[in-house]
Amino acid sequence: MEADRQAALKDLCAEIARCRRCALAQTRKLTVPGEGPVDAEVMFIGEAPGYHENQQGRPFVGAAGQFLEELLASIGMKREQVYIGNVIKCRPPNNRDPQADELEACRPYLTRQIELIDPRLIVTLGRFSMAYFLGHQSISRVHGQAHWQGGRLILPIFHPAAALHQNKYRAAIEQDFRQIPALLNQARQAGKVEPPPVAPQQLTLF
Ligand code: URA
Repeated sequence: MEADRQAALKDLCAEIARCRRCALAQTRKLTVPGEGPVDAEVMFIGEAPGYHENQQGRPFVGAAGQFLEELLASIGMKREQVYIGNVIKCRPPNNRDPQADELEACRPYLTRQIELIDPRLIVTLGRFSMAYFLGHQSISRVHGQAHWQGGRLILPIFHPAAALHQNKYRAAIEQDFRQIPALLNQARQAGKVEPPPVAPQQLTLF
């Protein structure tokens, strides 16, 4: 039932707020569990909170978030319709890359969020989020190539912050974003029936 899922997601956010599984607990101001409807069909997963997110306890509220909202508007969507989260729930000092032990400690929270929200389409933002699903790949090679995993579509794209600073990433992220409506329709039609496995060289079909 949706009310149960809502309550479970709220409990999970409260658990994250108390988390002391890694050293980021000592330097964070607020945890940033993520936000959006529990029945969201699309989930966006970024890297880690930055300065503004750490201050407000909300994901993507700085410049990268504003660009993400513009990208959503370009395909007729609003941020309130989607779930927005991160691989890491606390800000790494000075926005450094997340470390292996931090990724490991935080991983079960994202796994539980995905189970509860059960989105049809997951859009990964940047290489750390991509790696959660695809392992060590080159984001420059795999961005924009959706594939099935665990009964849902995964679309890896560049991080909006990278696109803010470099035009080549901006063009790529805009182009990759334009696939989202069609991919969502495809995922809706497929429902929860995962297509039969395909040979690895055929994985990148979209
Ligand atoms: N960048 C991220 O990856 N996540 C945020 O929440 C904000 C900026």
